[in-house]
Amino acid sequence: MSRPDTPVSAFANASAAPATQGTLYIVSAPSGAGKTSLVRALLERNAAIGVAVSHTTRAMRPGEADGVNYHFVTEETFEAMIARGEFFEHAWVFDRHYGTSRAEVEKRLALGEDVILEIDWQGARQVRELAPEAESIFILPPSREALRERLAGRGTDDDAVIARRMRDAVSEMSHFDEYEHVIINDTFEHALHELECIVHARRSRLDKVRTRYARLLAELLDAPR
Ligand code: GDP
Ligand code: ADP
Ligand code: 5GP
Repeated sequence: MSRPDTPVSAFANASAAPATQGTLYIVSAPSGAGKTSLVRALLERNAAIGVAVSHTTRAMRPGEADGVNYHFVTEETFEAMIARGEFFEHAWVFDRHYGTSRAEVEKRLALGEDVILEIDWQGARQVRELAPEAESIFILPPSREALRERLAGRGTDDDAVIARRMRDAVSEMSHFDEYEHVIINDTFEHALHELECIVHARRSRLDKVRTRYARLLAELLDAPR
């Protein structure tokens, strides 16, 4: 479970955030449901969105690189970051620390970039408190068996780790109804399409259009002379 530290807001006053600020997306799923693959595929097709690189104290998997998949740090470093209030959110997942640094999120949102957070339900709760306008998406596998097969098929974790993740999957999935959108990742392309639709729908919302197309709107609505 998460350690009960007080989360620190990225924005001292959320309503004071700049109008051009990007959108924050929260993506959660039980381990192995396919969130990393879906987010990666979304990013390949969509340049205007980025994913925040989390910090973690878990061991690096084969094929992972520091600063790419995660910032891999020691418990001491993570605890010191908590003490300095450097996390936007953080949680204790599978007996390890995971967290999103404030610097990572603040910097990119301020530049008007959309930012995806791949975080667990505990982190999602903290982010909703700090940024209620964040769009949240939960990804479910089509069956428990498929989840087990994906965890094993990924080939990155040993049997004990897989068993642990399967045990925790039900409790992670029980939080699906705290999210605005739920995607069943059965056929990968269908799930990816649903994810893209959520991003496009968000971008067409009035508040976003007002700022993104301010010049066009001024030109279109200017009274004819
Ligand atoms: P995977 O989900 O199977 O790829 O496994 P990971 O080891 O990458 O992630 C383990 C858990 O930590 C997942 O539930 C993630 O959602 C969660 N997690 C990853 N990064 C963060 C983070 O920055 N903050 C929080 N709160 N959770 C995270
Ligand atoms: P997560 O980040 O949620 O732990 P991953 O993206 O690492 O999950 O996916 C777990 C494994 O399942 C990977 O090997 C991935 O290629 C595979 N996978 C993801 N989505 C699908 C899908 N729709 N059908 C079959 N395999 C999938
Ligand atoms: P993995 O160790 O397999 O990469 O990730 C396991 C779980 O940790 C995933 O469900 C993932 O969503 C979660 N996780 C990864 N990074 C973060 C983070 O920064 N914050 C939180 N709260 N959870 C995270």
